[in-house]
Amino acid sequence: MAQADRLPPVDLPRELIEDISEARAQSLYRTRRKLQTAQGPRVRWRGREFVSFSSNDYLNLAADPRLIRAAARAARQYGTGAGASPLVSGYLPPLRRLERRLADWENSAAALVFSSGFAANLGLITALARPDDAIFSDALNHASLIDGCRLSRASVNAYRHVDVNHLDELLRRKGRRAARRLILTESVFSMDGDWAPLPDLLDLAQKHDALLVIDEAHASGVLGSQGRGLAEVLLPNFNPDEASVIKVGTLSKALGSQGGFVYGSEALIDWLVNRSRPYIYSTALTPPAAAAASRAVAIVQKEPARRQHLLSLADLLRARLRAAGFAETSSRCQIVPMIVGDAFKATLLSRQLADHGMLVPAIRPPSVPKGTSRLRISLTSGHRVEDIERLVALLQKFFVKE
Ligand code: PMP
Repeated sequence: MAQADRLPPVDLPRELIEDISEARAQSLYRTRRKLQTAQGPRVRWRGREFVSFSSNDYLNLAADPRLIRAAARAARQYGTGAGASPLVSGYLPPLRRLERRLADWENSAAALVFSSGFAANLGLITALARPDDAIFSDALNHASLIDGCRLSRASVNAYRHVDVNHLDELLRRKGRRAARRLILTESVFSMDGDWAPLPDLLDLAQKHDALLVIDEAHASGVLGSQGRGLAEVLLPNFNPDEASVIKVGTLSKALGSQGGFVYGSEALIDWLVNRSRPYIYSTALTPPAAAAASRAVAIVQKEPARRQHLLSLADLLRARLRAAGFAETSSRCQIVPMIVGDAFKATLLSRQLADHGMLVPAIRPPSVPKGTSRLRISLTSGHRVEDIERLVALLQKFFVKE
């Protein structure tokens, strides 16, 4: 369309414009970083090379030639788009193979793949919880879990982060009259890298006859001897088809592709296929994404050294930060937060690091609670020891310890 033929821009309502101006004034305005390369420990931005501590591609699989080949092969054979919802005609062979592979990896009867991790959480919670149910959700849970709660119209009770006593009290006070109870938690928390107390949560679920939903988004591929996630570490006797626990995860982080999944019994999966609106009314995951994710699961199973190396880099980073006099954080894996507090200061620090060739995102409200703005350092298996040493040296220079 020629410039002159363009429709005039529609003005945003004044309140929305004011909302954005206010966000700018408080250093809470968001923009998109325009990378010029694939994800990896080294990326190009604005024509310069940076060491990136800013992706969830924890095992550096997003640009792995083996995943690329698998995706290309699937595209040639099955096309780039699935073309329809899985219930209509989009349930193509790469997606079916992926679900089988995921279920085998987890030793679960079945798995169901959604087009994103966000959709998996939304689709699971809204299909499971009804208005007369009560949900108990960790206060730091991800937006997709929170939105699932809201859309379900169940009553929602946030318990203090990883505080099992608070959860127990809420279950006693608010759970009794509900038709059913659901406890929702991330396993590794996305902005702190700390662990949910899964054995205690499972005990409480059993004590209060509740269902426990565990989101392994940041732990799949990274933790556990088979790389299945934190439940593999903390709940070694966990049976994925047990009626009281449901695990979800994403293919979009350590698995280097796109999509989300839910594990469960055939009955649960059948229920979701029939009742989960984000599943039913959304196009199936594309063949290339499904094929790449299958290849990633095979790599995770065969190459434990990748995740072991990643976790040893995280230990090294924490040790170096400690030695440099930084306060201990609750991080126990590849996500290491540096809490700054003020959003402006966090943004400034992120810029100073970028000026010296390091990409570390400033995470600000509403992604984290007010007053806890931070740098979120996310390590990948391809980082080098000298990347970590340079980062710590720069933090020593610019991070003002209060
Ligand atoms: N759960 C958690 C804990 C997450 O951090 C995220 C993504 N940031 C998701 C779910 C959503 O996953 P996806 O990016 O695949 O939509």
